[in-house]
Amino acid sequence: MNFETFNFHPPVAAGVAAAGYITPTSIQARAIPQVLRRRDVMGLAQTGTGKTAAFVLPILNRLMGNKKGCIRALVMAPTRELAEQIHQAVKTLGCKTRLKSTSVYGGVGINPQIQNLKRADIVVACPGRLLDHIGRRTVDLSQLDVLVIDEADQMFDMGFLPDIRRILTHLPRNRQTLLFSATMPAEIRRLAGDILRDPVTVQMGATAPADTVSHALYPVAPHLKTALLLKLLGNTRTESVLVFTRTKHRAKSLGKNLSLAGYRSTSLQGNLSQGRRQAAMDGFRDGTFQILVATDIAARGIDVTRVSHVINYDIPSTPEAYIHRIGRTGRATRSGEAFTLITGEDREMVLAINRIIGSQVEQRTLSNFDYSSPVRIPDDCPQWQRKPHHQFYALKKGRNKKTSRLNDHIPAKRP
Ligand code: AMP
Repeated sequence: MNFETFNFHPPVAAGVAAAGYITPTSIQARAIPQVLRRRDVMGLAQTGTGKTAAFVLPILNRLMGNKKGCIRALVMAPTRELAEQIHQAVKTLGCKTRLKSTSVYGGVGINPQIQNLKRADIVVACPGRLLDHIGRRTVDLSQLDVLVIDEADQMFDMGFLPDIRRILTHLPRNRQTLLFSATMPAEIRRLAGDILRDPVTVQMGATAPADTVSHALYPVAPHLKTALLLKLLGNTRTESVLVFTRTKHRAKSLGKNLSLAGYRSTSLQGNLSQGRRQAAMDGFRDGTFQILVATDIAARGIDVTRVSHVINYDIPSTPEAYIHRIGRTGRATRSGEAFTLITGEDREMVLAINRIIGSQVEQRTLSNFDYSSPVRIPDDCPQWQRKPHHQFYALKKGRNKKTSRLNDHIPAKRP
C-alpha cells in the first residue's frame, strides 16, 4: 500500500512527500480512510505508531476543499511539548496547503496567540490555555468541523477531563470527533461513550508495545543505580538515550550527574520554565544532548526519531506507563532497546510488565560490574576518568540531607 491509495489533494500528497513518508504505517492505513469518510474514530494507539499523521493528513485534505478564514479543526493535547510537536507535524505535512496552524498552551505570552488565533484554520491546544482564550472570547470555535483529543488517557492522568468536558460545551455538536488513547481506563471509555457518534475503533495490537523494541531488566541495589547506568552507557552503542526517573528532583539530579560524568545530557521536568523545557527538547532533538533525563509527564509524546535506548532508571508506576515510556524508542521503522533497572521493591511491577508484554522480560547482569560494592563507581568507566576530580568534590560538597540518598553513588574517595 502507498499514500496514493488515499487520493489526497495534490498539496496534501506533496506534504507527505516533504515529510519523506513512502508507506503508510498500520494505523494510517486503517484510520485515514475512516477519517476521510467523516466517521468518528476511537484510536487505540501509542505514540511511535504514526498516529499524528493518521489524523493530520485526512484533516488537511478535508480543510482544503472548504471555506477558509476560521478555525475548523481543534487538536487537544495534554502537554505543551506534544502540542508543539503536533503543530510542527501539521506545518510539515501541510507545507503546500496554505492552511494555517497555531499552537496554544500556557507558560508563554498570550498576545501572540490571540493574533495567531484570528488567522488559524487548525489549532493545537492544551486544555488550560484554551479555556483561558474561551473565557476571554479570543477564540471562535463556532465553525469547528473536526475535534481530535490526543493521548486521552494522559489527559485523564493529569486531571484535564473536567476541562475537556467544559471545552466540549463550546463546540458545535455537528462535528467529527477523533479520540486517541494508548490505554482505555474506565473514564476514557465513558468519555468516548459520551462524545463519539457511532465510532469506528482502530486498535493497534491491544496495548502491546511496538515490536521494534527489545526489552531487558537489570536487577541492582538502589544505591548502585547510577553506577550501573554509567556502566551500561559505557558498554552499549547508543544514539540518543532517554532516561526516566520517578520524580522531578531525581531527573534534575541524575541529568547533572551524567553531565559531570562526561555525557552531553540534560533533564526535562515540570519545574523548568517553558523556555528551558524547549531548549532541552530542541537540544535533544538536534543531538546537542545525547541523553535526556525526564519524568513521565515531561516526556509524554516526545518524538525524537534517533532514540535508540529508553532506560528506566526508576521502574514506572504502572504497566501502561511502561508502554508509554518505551514508545519513545523503536519509532516508525527503527528498532530500539528498553532497559529497566529494578530493585527488590519492584517485583510486583515486573510481573505486571511481563503480563502486558505477554512474555517474561529477560533479566541481565553485567559481568564487569561490582554488584557488591558499597557505593563505588566502577573504576574502568571511561567517562568518569575523563572528568577532573574536583567536580566530584564540588558536587559532593553541595549535597544536603534531602538529596544525599540520590547522590549515594558519588564516591567518598576518588575512584
Ligand atoms: P507519531 O506516532 O505520530 O508520534 O509518529 C512517530 C514517528 O514516525 C514520527 O517521527 C513521524 O514523523 C514518523 N512517521 C509517521 N508516519 C510515517 C510513515 N508513514 N513513514 C515513515 N515515518 C513515519
